[in-house]
Amino acid sequence: MILTSCPHCRRAVSDHAQVCAYCGGAITPEAKAEMAAGMPGPIRQTVAALKFHRLVAIGLFWGGILLAALATPSVTSNSEPQSSAALLMPLLTLLMIFAGVMWYAVTKLRLRYRK
Ligand SMILES: [Zn+2]
Repeated sequence: MILTSCPHCRRAVSDHAQVCAYCGGAITPEAKAEMAAGMPGPIRQTVAALKFHRLVAIGLFWGGILLAALATPSVTSNSEPQSSAALLMPLLTLLMIFAGVMWYAVTKLRLRYRK
């Protein structure tokens, strides 16, 4: 008999056991694979999705900063704003940076409390 650890409670159980003797959890190849990966499948997928969200948030944040850096000289070089686009640009970049920071914070919180 070879001992393996239960995917649910991590205690040593026989690898022939269908059900854990300690917690009653089903010991399936899928459950073992999930344990080997570190966490249950659905949670792992959620974390991957949240990490993608975090990338988008970082992209939005830096995109806003980059846009602000590109837009600012054209706005400050003119004593008077020429068009409504020149007025909207700083507002848009601020909005992008703000949205990026908020999105990042929300994603970070979701990552923390999901586990
Ligand atoms: Zn168990």
